[in-house]
Amino acid sequence: MYDVNSKHADDFINHEEILETLAYADENKENVELIDAIIEKAKKRKGLTHREASVLLACPIEEKNQEIYKLAEQIKKDFYGNRIVMFAPLYLSNYCINGCTYCPYHMKNKHIPRKQLSQEDIRREVIALQDMGHKRLALEAGEDPVRNTMDYYLQSIDTIYSIKHKNGAIRRVNINIAATTVDNYRLLKEAGIGTYILFQETYHKESYLELHPTGPKHDYNYHTEAMDRAMEGGIDDVGLGVLFGLDKYRYEFAGLLMHAEHLEAAFGVGPHTISVPRLKHADDINPEEFDNGIDDDTFLKIIACIRIAVPYTGMIISTREGRKCRERALHLGISQISGASRTSVGGYYEPEPEDESSEQFDVSDNRTLDEVVHWLMEMGYIPSFCTACYREGRTGDRFMSLCKSGQIQNCCHPNALMTLKEYLMDYASPETKALGDRLIEKEVLNVPNEKVRKVVLENLRLIEQDNRRDFRF
Ligand code: SAM
Repeated sequence: MYDVNSKHADDFINHEEILETLAYADENKENVELIDAIIEKAKKRKGLTHREASVLLACPIEEKNQEIYKLAEQIKKDFYGNRIVMFAPLYLSNYCINGCTYCPYHMKNKHIPRKQLSQEDIRREVIALQDMGHKRLALEAGEDPVRNTMDYYLQSIDTIYSIKHKNGAIRRVNINIAATTVDNYRLLKEAGIGTYILFQETYHKESYLELHPTGPKHDYNYHTEAMDRAMEGGIDDVGLGVLFGLDKYRYEFAGLLMHAEHLEAAFGVGPHTISVPRLKHADDINPEEFDNGIDDDTFLKIIACIRIAVPYTGMIISTREGRKCRERALHLGISQISGASRTSVGGYYEPEPEDESSEQFDVSDNRTLDEVVHWLMEMGYIPSFCTACYREGRTGDRFMSLCKSGQIQNCCHPNALMTLKEYLMDYASPETKALGDRLIEKEVLNVPNEKVRKVVLENLRLIEQDNRRDFRF
């Protein structure tokens, strides 16, 4: 039975509730009165239920869809301003004992070279990432309890945080690894991770069992209840996501929001981020063999509906998407993007030879970080390398209350400007630096509090003189 507070996956992601939600959305998808009422509710910026948001997602009326997009854009601006948080993935290992039918790391794939980074490899990769200007990483790995042990992860996190090369430092390490125990989540928290990310892949249990025929990931309930264990282990920033293309997108959308509602109900804090990966071509994987692929318009509508349904949750888009699609997605709600990503194990320090590729999927955005930063600023966005919230202990509900109080303009905005300035000084090309300096000069005037604005101006001056401190609000 559906129960948002229950600790059991079958209750909080209840199949019957999702089917009823989809039926309700179908019945009401052209009910203009109801749709208007839902849009009005969304304008209050307190979010929507999975049922309400599912009606909007199903709605085919063009005029209403334009209203949804407009509202998504406005909510995005109100909560996140024009900041876009930058990160890069770092693949530690592609050893995996699972049988996921959509992933090239699946155990039966004998032609993908298997690799695991040593601590020395990690050092080299991290220095290469720091030299591009990255400050925030998402660690990725396959599931192999013998090779990719918790000790290995903890040691790797330690290595990453310890590397200080020139002005570089990785200040936030997020981690996307297989579902694990409360004790292990506690260890990850103690090691100083930022967000624990785990994609559900699909909320449809029957499909899930078929798509994950073998290995520990086959256990749907253990996987679906992972975020509960992570929160019990003290991790209060968790990142959800589904892999669009595996099952019907409307089912996934309802499941995703039910998962967010469950975390909010059970722990008082919803997901920190939601990722929206789409299935891609990869070694041994042809996305056309999966029937549920979605086109760009549907994908963008999902992003807009997530934005208005969970306004306080950050949204992440990876380099699975190309420039054009990312551009539209940024307007509609995305607040974090990766840049210059490699999905191979290693590859930042030295590109892999083509015939030895350990890539997880084909990347559609191959630009350098400088090019991505330049492109964002041309569109008026501020690429942010800030990690202050995490280092100030503003995670979980403390971050959410900052977000809800609207103090972000006096806090995140200045931090974004100062970290962008550091990036421009240390890593940018002359063209990107010139563009960025002009943007910062204009943007600093948007810091509402006069005192804060003065401090920011002084700090920007110090950074320009290469007189560095740990500037942050
Ligand atoms: N091993 C971890 C786990 O058990 O969830 C996940 C790490 S995996 C490196 C990160 C994510 O890549 C997966 O959760 C999956 O959603 C995504 N992925 C796998 N195959 C993909 C493909 N062919 N195209 C796009 N994304 C894919």
